[in-house]
Amino acid sequence: VSKRLEQFKTTIFTQISILALKHKAVNLGQGFPNFDGPDFVKDAAIHAIQGGKNQYARGFGIPELNYAIAQSFKKESGITVNSETEVTVTSGCTEAIAATILGLINPGDEVILFEPFYDSYLATLAMADATVKTVTLRPPDFAVPEMELRTAFSNKTRAILVNTPHNPTGKVFSRKELELIASLCKKHDALAFMDEVYNKLVFTGEHVSMASLDGMYERTVTMNSLGKTFSLTGWKIGWAVAPPHLTWGLRQAHSYLTFSTSAPFQWGAVAALSAPDSFYQELIGGYRTKKDILVEGLKSVGFKVFEPEGTYFVMVDHRAFGYEDDVAFCKHLIEDVGVAAIPPSTFYIDPKNGKDLVRFAFCKDEETLRTAVERLKANL
Ligand code: GLN
Repeated sequence: VSKRLEQFKTTIFTQISILALKHKAVNLGQGFPNFDGPDFVKDAAIHAIQGGKNQYARGFGIPELNYAIAQSFKKESGITVNSETEVTVTSGCTEAIAATILGLINPGDEVILFEPFYDSYLATLAMADATVKTVTLRPPDFAVPEMELRTAFSNKTRAILVNTPHNPTGKVFSRKELELIASLCKKHDALAFMDEVYNKLVFTGEHVSMASLDGMYERTVTMNSLGKTFSLTGWKIGWAVAPPHLTWGLRQAHSYLTFSTSAPFQWGAVAALSAPDSFYQELIGGYRTKKDILVEGLKSVGFKVFEPEGTYFVMVDHRAFGYEDDVAFCKHLIEDVGVAAIPPSTFYIDPKNGKDLVRFAFCKDEETLRTAVERLKANL
């Protein structure tokens, strides 16, 4: 393995999913729904395959999907964008993030990350030889520590990468926090890379799109995907919306990373983005019930629960159970209790910062969540 990547292990999601299978644990680890995406979306992809839409798609996306993304971006942020020059379709949001970093960051540029962070961010920043600065979000509310953030910014800062709603904490960045980040980006002439894949999964408060804040669109890349909102994580359809000068950089990276994204699934995505508002209302209603089942269950067995404002994850403090750290506790959970969860210490530069926490995913059918809660009650 290259020097850039030798510090990284097999991703924690893969490790935990393998262990969960081996021990027949209920898998509340890796965040993928155990129910299927909607028929109207799947049917559109099936028709595309049968209708011969099977050769390379246009590199930056089929025009119909670029258009649909521009429309939904307008609805979410109020900003009108040109679908031909400001929208790029990628193979999942993970590729959008990689293309953004590789296309816009020079070796040695500083990039600020909030920790805990989604694991691909650090690995991709390493591939780009970026210098990473972290600002830690701490329980109980994972609020942005203003002074630490101000100190992290300097004239070397090229970008800040923000995920809101936030995996793994379930935090939704407040308007005030985003305005603080925006003011620092403007002051230091830095870019904002926004991973907003959970923007439709908000239980309390509101999702604020960074691009919609005053003076920010011109320095922001907004990324999203189909996977979370439409329960189709295996399709790997994502996108990035950014002004033309930033789009150019990320498209150059995208062109040489994957060139283009699966054509039939892009047709599925066109159908998905035409969903009526009621689709999103049902989605959030369903997830609210799932969240409540798991959160109540976790509280009842004695965890300290940091109730999520968004996403389909919940973080808890496991210290009441007397284990040394998150890895030891998750091992016990999988092997002896029969429930898999993610030890989040790998989402921190210094693993000690995450050792008291555990992340559970609730993107599972209600029966699975109830079974998990029963096992926790019986075996923990
Ligand atoms: N995004 C999902 C999670 O956080 C899964 C990601 C993955 O398996 N790489 O659990």
